[in-house]
Amino acid sequence: MYLILFGAPGVGKGTQAKLISKKNGIPQISTGDMLREAVKNQTELGKKAGEIMKRGELVPDEIMLGLIKERINNQDCANGFILDGFPRTIAQAQGLDKLMTALNLPAFKCIEIEVPDKDIIKRLVSRRLCENCGSDFNLITNPPPENMICPKCGGTIYQRKDDNEETISNRLKVYKAQTAPLKKYYRNKGDFFTVSGSKPVEEVQKEIAAILD
Ligand code: AMP
Repeated sequence: MYLILFGAPGVGKGTQAKLISKKNGIPQISTGDMLREAVKNQTELGKKAGEIMKRGELVPDEIMLGLIKERINNQDCANGFILDGFPRTIAQAQGLDKLMTALNLPAFKCIEIEVPDKDIIKRLVSRRLCENCGSDFNLITNPPPENMICPKCGGTIYQRKDDNEETISNRLKVYKAQTAPLKKYYRNKGDFFTVSGSKPVEEVQKEIAAILD
């Protein structure tokens, strides 16, 4: 299965990608997670990406395509993978197409998750994540334990630096200007589906499973 989960920040791509990954035994490739790891480890990439991410802008296409190329050549991607947060520009989508053709891999199925902007902002400012297993919490709908220790793995629960109102509004602007045009790109290729991300996680999961089956 070769799947792109598409949609604005905070619509639930990561949550759904983890569920699909577990069910189908194929990896979730989150470029945001890869970049945050690089920032944490202060690698050359991390030093470059950190400031860009804090502003809610996009890391240059060549860097992102280099990262993806290396990642999808990994053995664990041999039976497919789920892209979460990539591609985010037309240039990235075109570069990805070239990579897939060179590797003799089939076309992607693309599933868009849609949530109104006002709900996205509410979700993101109250989002908290486990730095170890990535489990997500929400101060209002799914509060983390008071000690901020993840009940699943014992990791520390934190707030992402870019989950503040100012950066979120920039991330949404960037999404509309640079990423939303990809809808047309993938719609034209066929195999493009939209689900509402406003429903409970399990319902969204069922809808996505129905599309994938
Ligand atoms: P995410 O975790 O997907 O919300 O991504 C967090 C941040 O990482 C974004 O706001 C961008 O700064 C950067 N980023 C993640 N994926 C990409 C990508 N495909 N292209 C450019 N920048 C990205």
